[in-house]
This record gives sequence, C-alpha cells and structure tokens, in this order.
Amino acid sequence: MQKISPTRPKAFLIDLDGTLYFKGEPCPGAIETVNYLRQEKYQLRFLTNTTAKTPKMLHEQMQALGFDIYEDEIFNATYACLQYLRAQPEISCHFMVDDAVKAFFKEISVDDDAPDFVVVGDYGERFDFHALNHAFRLLMNGAELIALQKGLYWFSSEGMFLDCGAFVTLLEAAAGKTAKVMGKPSETFFKLALESLQLSPSEVIVVGDDITSDIVGAQTMEMQSILVKTGKFKSDQLEAPVAEPTWVLKDVSELAQLF
Ligand SMILES: [Mg+2]
Repeated sequence: MQKISPTRPKAFLIDLDGTLYFKGEPCPGAIETVNYLRQEKYQLRFLTNTTAKTPKMLHEQMQALGFDIYEDEIFNATYACLQYLRAQPEISCHFMVDDAVKAFFKEISVDDDAPDFVVVGDYGERFDFHALNHAFRLLMNGAELIALQKGLYWFSSEGMFLDCGAFVTLLEAAAGKTAKVMGKPSETFFKLALESLQLSPSEVIVVGDDITSDIVGAQTMEMQSILVKTGKFKSDQLEAPVAEPTWVLKDVSELAQLF
C-alpha cells in the first residue's frame, strides 16, 4: 500500500461481485468496511455489471449477506440500459435477458422480428444456437447491438461460467457490428452514478476487483481508483496493466486504513 495521505473524497463507487462478496460469501471485512464508510459520512454507490438481477433483487441479496445498503444506492447495467432506452424515441427491442430483467424493461416495445435494438444480457442456458442465430439475423437486417455488459466469465460456488460478453463478442464478430456497452467500463454508466451523487469525478473514488471494467472506467472518467486483490484479481494483471489503479489493496477492509 502506498504510504500517502489521500485527499478525503466525498464518495466511493464500490463494485459488488469480487469486491464486497465472492462466490456467495462476503469478502473479508467487507460488511464492516461498508459500515465504517457510512459512519464516516462518505456517500456510497454500488456499481455492478451483474445483469441477471434488477437493483431490487440485488438489494435483497446484499441484505441477506448482511450488508447495510439501500436499493437506490445500487446501479447495475440493467438500470443504465433502461435509462438509455428511455431516451430513444419510439424504438423497439428484442431482448435476450432473464425473465425478471425483461419485466424490468416492460415500458419498452418488444419486436422479435424487426427490432431497432438487440439487447443482450444474462441469458444463461437460453444462449443456444437458435437464439444466437436469430439475434445474428436481426443484426444483419439492421438492428443495433446493445450489451448490458461484456464480462467474459464469472465465478459461482459451482465453478466458472461463461458470461454474456462471450456471446456478445460472438455476435459482434459474425455480424460485423460493435455493441454499445451499458455497464462498466462505459462512461454512460459512471456518469449516471456521478449524476445521482451530484459530484464531480475528482470527488469520488472507484473501488473494484476488475482492472478491465472498474479501473479502466475510473481512468476514462479521470477518477482515482482502488484495485482490490480479491474476486477476479490476478497478479499478472499488474505486469502490463490496461489501466493504472491509484492504490492496490489486499482486500476492501484496508480502505479503513487509508480513508
Ligand atoms: Mg467485480
């Protein structure tokens, strides 16, 4: 850890999966750290690329794990996508997302034959040949591709799983299109969180375990960042890093020593 006294920020944007919990269990000291930051009057927002759940479901999950956080502090890619689609006049979508998430988009018109957008999120085992080929044809017929996020894999207590980014990459390659990404590291996502805080990037610090989403996003937005060595972290990511975290910590509990 760098022995410097950082300027006191006003808020933290904290990743959930791999930073506060991992494989269904809280990370070491994570619950206490959230309580400490709250007690120290820092504003908090929780940014996650998890797309299989709505903010309400994530809130229930975090509470069940023992975290004292509020639903309106949680920003996920699904929420960012709804905000984006709301801003597009009279559009229709073909959704490849979990049923609960599809219900979250209920105000958006669905068109499974000639949509303006193909929206890809967590689709689990429904990412089969027919579903992917149908999406490919829609893209070739002019639809644009939206990815809730582009993570390639994730960890559960049962092992590693392909994430929606793997299927988005497949569709991009086949259709020759580039997906508009809603989750981290997109600017859209971080701006949404900053707007809700009414703070500027220099007043906020990003905390996460994923250098390609959390730290890249922070760097793009010119925010300071903390990389934690839990969750997805691998030491070789620091050899030729795609982005430079301001601090690297063993786990999120070390935050209390810095701030
Ligand atoms: Mg993470």
